[in-house]
Amino acid sequence: MNIILLGPPGAGKGTQAKMLIDEYQIPQISTGDILRAAVKEGTPLGKEAKSYMDKGELVPDSVVIGIVEERIQESDCAKGYMLDGFPRTVPQAEALDEMLSKLSAQIDHVVSIEVANEELIKRLTGRRTCRECGAGYHVMFDPPKAEGVCDKCGGELYQRDDDNEETVSSRLNVYEAQTLPLIDYYKVKGKIRPIDGVGEIKEIFGRITTVLS
Ligand code: AMP
Repeated sequence: MNIILLGPPGAGKGTQAKMLIDEYQIPQISTGDILRAAVKEGTPLGKEAKSYMDKGELVPDSVVIGIVEERIQESDCAKGYMLDGFPRTVPQAEALDEMLSKLSAQIDHVVSIEVANEELIKRLTGRRTCRECGAGYHVMFDPPKAEGVCDKCGGELYQRDDDNEETVSSRLNVYEAQTLPLIDYYKVKGKIRPIDGVGEIKEIFGRITTVLS
């Protein structure tokens, strides 16, 4: 099963993807995670991507398309995969269709997680992650026992560079202008599965699995 997780930044795509890959035993392909790892390692890709990411802008289509084209042909993707954060523009979606048709494959479902902007801003600016184990927290909705310290491993909690208020607002604008048109793109193809992204994490997971089964 090949799935796309679509939704604005802060809709919970990453959280749901982690639960869904366990459920369906397919890998998660997050272009954001791949780019962040490249930035951390200081590779040429990371150096190119960082300037766009810091401003909340999209990395050029040609860069991310190349990353995904290579990744989906790796052996762990043979039984399917979950794309998280890709495609983000209509040209990316068209390129994906082209690569899939060459591989005689297709996208089965486009899960579109819907959350209002006001809620997204609260979620994103309060998000914190552990530097050591990657555990996620939220200063209001899921705070750690001691401020700035991971409950699970004692590691330091940090805020993603692009989760500050200014960059969040630019990421939401970019989403509306460049990614929202994908809903129509996939609606025409009969692939869109809209999901209400407000509620308990498990509840939202239940809504998605119901639609996928
Ligand atoms: P994310 O973790 O999905 O929110 O992505 C973080 C940042 O990485 C975005 O704001 C973009 O700068 C970049 N990025 C991730 N995926 C893509 C993509 N498919 N196309 C262009 N830029 C991307």
